[in-house]
Amino acid sequence: MKTIGVLTSGGDAPGMNAAIRAVVRAGIYNNIKVMGIERGYNGLINGNIKEMNLSSVADIIHRGGTVLKTARCEEFKTEEGRKKALNVLKVFGIEGLVVIGGDGSFTGAQKLSEAGIKTIGIPGTIDNDLAYTDYTIGFDTALNTVLDAITKIRDTSASHGRANIVEVMGRHCGDIALYAGLAGGAESVIVPEEEFSIDDVCRKLIQGRSRGKLHSIIMLAEGIGGNAFELGKEIEEVTGIETKVTVLGHIQRGGNPSAFDRILASKLGAKAVSLLIEGKSGRVVGMKDHKIIDMDIHEALSMERQFDKETYKLTKILSI
Ligand code: ADP
Repeated sequence: MKTIGVLTSGGDAPGMNAAIRAVVRAGIYNNIKVMGIERGYNGLINGNIKEMNLSSVADIIHRGGTVLKTARCEEFKTEEGRKKALNVLKVFGIEGLVVIGGDGSFTGAQKLSEAGIKTIGIPGTIDNDLAYTDYTIGFDTALNTVLDAITKIRDTSASHGRANIVEVMGRHCGDIALYAGLAGGAESVIVPEEEFSIDDVCRKLIQGRSRGKLHSIIMLAEGIGGNAFELGKEIEEVTGIETKVTVLGHIQRGGNPSAFDRILASKLGAKAVSLLIEGKSGRVVGMKDHKIIDMDIHEALSMERQFDKETYKLTKILSI
């Protein structure tokens, strides 16, 4: 393999830069030319491609976002769009492609692989919503960002004797709410995977107040139980406890990647390059039981995510 390409696609995640760096450096180490494709499949269709060298990935391991930029590309979902992309890959002599993104980006990668381009997927998304891997790049950083916010909210919440709903990302996957809730000592954790009862949430707040608790945190995954502000109003009406809402939003996507995400991204980037060198295609890399693994992309995408019910139960036990 003489030339490979790398792109980031879908929602950005801290640690994507560390993964790009690893792909570029591992490629160059193995005498492979590495082309950086800008703005995901958009840049692939439009030929926004440049050769990367050692210095184009210098000083980025610690930066959030992605130096290659990212985008969503409807055109790539069409046969015609992908034909254009295949032509561009041919023109640039790109024989192998590393796609850093989430499940949508992987579906695109799978289609390129079926069309004969050797593709490897690296999981880059803060949501941690890919079933085949224990961690996706960016999740740990997002978790720490949320935890930092909870800590700050706790200070002001305690001063006023308030309850706080903290809304985090995870419309279909409650991992951020779950693990930040556990690490942040939340009283209630509301996730898409589990039914919740507003009566339970209120009962906990009232019990907490009666034993002199000064603050309460309710972790809420976005889009669950309707609008966070309406939920806050309802809780306030039932409990009489002033309830504030903080929607963390895109702050969760930014920031310097954590040590864990940098290490994961570096290992996965290097693994993706070695798979291409071995001539593999249509595979994704990830981490299972603390080991770097690779798996058929089709199999990985068809796996059903298992919600961590035990940790969810633990959040309930520890917040009695
Ligand atoms: P993520 O990769 O974070 O899940 P998206 O679901 O938005 O993000 O997907 C990113 C991009 O991947 C899309 O904009 C599109 O270009 C490509 N993609 C998604 N689904 C498909 C599909 N079914 N076929 C081809 N390309 C797809």
